[in-house]
Formats: sequence, structure tokens, C-alpha cells
Amino acid sequence: MVVSVLPVSVPSVEFDAKLVGKLSQLGPRYTSYPTADRFTEAFGYRDYLQAVASLRTRGSTNPLSLYLHIPFCDTVCYYCACNKIITKNRDKAATYLVYLKREIEMQGRLFSGMNQVEQLHLGGGTPTYLSDGQMADLMAHLRRWFQFAPDDIGEYSIEVDPRTVSPERVQSLRDQGFKRISLGVQDFDPEVQKAVNRIQPESQTIDIIAAARDAHFRSVSIDLIYGLPKQNVMTMAQTLAKVIKAGPDCIAIYNYAHMPHLFKPQRRIAEADLPSGEAKLDMLSLCIKWLTEAGYVYIGMDHFARPTDDLAVAQRQGRLHRNFQGYSTHAESDLVSCGVSAISAVAASYSQNVKTLDAYYEHIDNELPIARGIKLNMDDGLRRVIIQMLMCNFELSIASIEMAYPITFADYFSAETEKLRVLAQDGLLTIDNEWLSVTAKGRLLIRNICMVFDRYLNAKPDPLRYSRTV
Ligand code: SF4
Repeated sequence: MVVSVLPVSVPSVEFDAKLVGKLSQLGPRYTSYPTADRFTEAFGYRDYLQAVASLRTRGSTNPLSLYLHIPFCDTVCYYCACNKIITKNRDKAATYLVYLKREIEMQGRLFSGMNQVEQLHLGGGTPTYLSDGQMADLMAHLRRWFQFAPDDIGEYSIEVDPRTVSPERVQSLRDQGFKRISLGVQDFDPEVQKAVNRIQPESQTIDIIAAARDAHFRSVSIDLIYGLPKQNVMTMAQTLAKVIKAGPDCIAIYNYAHMPHLFKPQRRIAEADLPSGEAKLDMLSLCIKWLTEAGYVYIGMDHFARPTDDLAVAQRQGRLHRNFQGYSTHAESDLVSCGVSAISAVAASYSQNVKTLDAYYEHIDNELPIARGIKLNMDDGLRRVIIQMLMCNFELSIASIEMAYPITFADYFSAETEKLRVLAQDGLLTIDNEWLSVTAKGRLLIRNICMVFDRYLNAKPDPLRYSRTV
């Protein structure tokens, strides 16, 4: 079956069930390159300081992107693969904030004079686990240690669990400076919600979307998941119809990856309730068809947006970027992340904080709580740029790569080019001396194409850590 799509002037995607069936495989999501599973403990605090120092030496004027991780949740959703702490004890969040503010101050001092923030994202866990007062205090602290770009330039976003906020709280978040709001929904069907332990009345979600509109959020986004227990094409159609009627600016539709060997909560999902691989592809096909017919543009991976949304505009202008929070409009920024397990990307390095609260608190008494990371060499940087371009723009200018790096593409990537030619025969891409262009069919399988350039994966595959590429 081939479900084709879209107006000519916007990026399109085409679902080809046969091709997806043939090529879908386990692979990374490329929120970074090298991917986080390649970070090592050989990289630590001193290396991070060196990375920041290298920015100073070269007089970097890049704006900053900030990420804060709030790990707490009230209850556990069984599909969850996030780094979170389930607790109803609010005191834990109060203690965490004391340390988080200390880390923000340490980072603020480190970046003093180079701390213009153009992008902020609060993720979790559940950022709105914090009370309104705690959030106001945290935002004031951030503004004390970092300089924020004005509202019309900055991209300030927050993940919100509609079960944790009232319409008044949504207005308050807007007043605190957030402009983009992303709501976790997953599925409206009561049986599916029961099977994943996330009971979230439809009316509650719709009310929060309306409140976000009333509060003039620039963008309202909804997260859905396909492949959950008790889901089928019918339930997905009903949920989709309701989502389209609600009209968010962005919709992310994630493929549920059942990996109970890695994520404990998933062991509470009855495998017999999971939809078959074929049913999952039917759901995906339906999502693509209905969303594109409703006027949404395929941004990439699992993301759709209205043509007027900042992400779609940035993609059309070649400014789209991809980081640990997904797609973003701010390309040339260094990412400073605070909180347990948070990952920073500063100069040519990635670094990840320790993952437990105890280790986090213990470290911050002395230094930044960096547990591991990686310093990128020239080859890593080159492949990172290529993977970024492919993930965000679906094309690669070979001439621009040869101008920016001391290589001849055909020689340096001769083995990769062979593999690309095989994918070209399958219809995923076209390649000549100047351009690698991903076709409408290839867009859904973009991870397969990026995997060709992943040197670590080719040297040492570790498929059990990854989800399916479609
Ligand atoms: S899905 Fe979100 S709300 Fe549910 S447990 Fe995971 S982080 Fe918490």
C-alpha cells in the first residue's frame, strides 16, 4: 500500500508499507552524534571546563540553549522510558530545587559574559510537578544567572502533564515567560489509558489546550504514541479525529518501543495486549494520511507541524536543528543542561550528569555533577553535521561539506557511498556528485540513512539498546 501526501510546496512524506516492512530495523534516534550510548566515564568535569574554555578562546558569540530536567512524577505510566522518580512526597522536589539552583549558579558563573539564552526547555519527569511558587522562584533564579533574549526572539518551552495543571496555572506559565507548551496525551481511549496506567480525561486535555490558546502561547504541541497496549486502528482513528479537531500547532507521534529488559515499568504491560507490527504500521499510515490531509507538514522522525509553526518555517529556511529535546529552531547554540541525567552539548563535546539524586547532591557540594561524556574529533564533527542535515533538511550538499572540511566526499565516504547506492536502489534517496536527496519514501526511514554515516554503529553494533527505525 502506498499512501501519498501533500501540497507540492512543503516537504512531503510517503508511507510505503512494503519498503518499511523490508527496511525497518533497530537503530538510534540521533538526538546526538555520537549517540549517548557511546559516552564514557573517561570524560569528566575537567574536560567540560576545557570545552567551555575553548569557547572563550575563540570568542564565541553563539547564543545558549538551556535545558532543566525535573525528574518527579506522581504516578508511573507503564510505557515510560524517561529518567524519572515516582513520588508523592513534595519535599523531595523542594530539596532538589536547592541543588538545581546551585548547579544553575555554577553554570551561570562559568558562562559569565557569554550567557545570552535564546532557548530554554523544561522537561522531565513532569516539570509542572513543581508548584507555581517553585516555578516562579526557579525562573527568577535562571534570570539572575543568565541573560534571556527578548520574548520575540527566544524559544522558551515546557512539557506539561495536563493532569497536573489548571487553566489558571497555564496562564501563569505564560506569564513566567514560556511560549511553547507541549502536552503529554498519548491516547484518548479509556481502555488504552487504563492499560498504561495514565488516566487522563479527554475534557481535561481539551480544557488545557483552550487555556493555552487563551494565554497566547505561540505554539501548542501534543504528544501521541502508537503501538500501546489495547490500541488498534479504530481507537487510533478516534483519538486522531479528536486531536485534529483540537487543532494543536505541532503533533508528535512516537512509536512505542517495548523494551522491558531496559525499562522496568514496561514489565507491567501485558504483551498479549500489544498491537501486531502490521497493526502498528496501519496506525502510522493512518496518522500520516490524516495529518497531512488536515494540513500538517511532516517535519521529520515523528513530528508534524502546521505550515505556519516556527518549526515548519525554520525547516523551509534551512534553520531547523535537532537536539535532545527533539527539533528546534535555534541552530548555532551551545546546550547547557542542568539536573539529574541531563546532557549538555558545549563546543565539540557532550557531557551527561549523574543519574541518581544521591550522586547528584553529593557532587554538587564540590563541582558540576558530570558523570560521563565524549570529546568529538574531526571525524565525529563531520558525521554530526551530515546526520543533522539529513535529519532536519532531508538533503545534503556535498559541495558544502567539502568546503567546510578537508576531505573529498567520494574518497572519505567510499564505503558509505556503496551502502547509500543500495538504499538508492530501494528508492530511499538519490545521490550524485553534488547532492544526496532523501525521497518522500525515504523520509520515514531517515534513521536508516543516517545509520550509514554512524562510524560507531558500524564498528560495534549494539542493537538491543535501540528502538525500530519505523
Ligand atoms: S511518561 Fe511522563 S508522566 Fe508518565 S511516568 Fe514517564 S515522565 Fe512521568
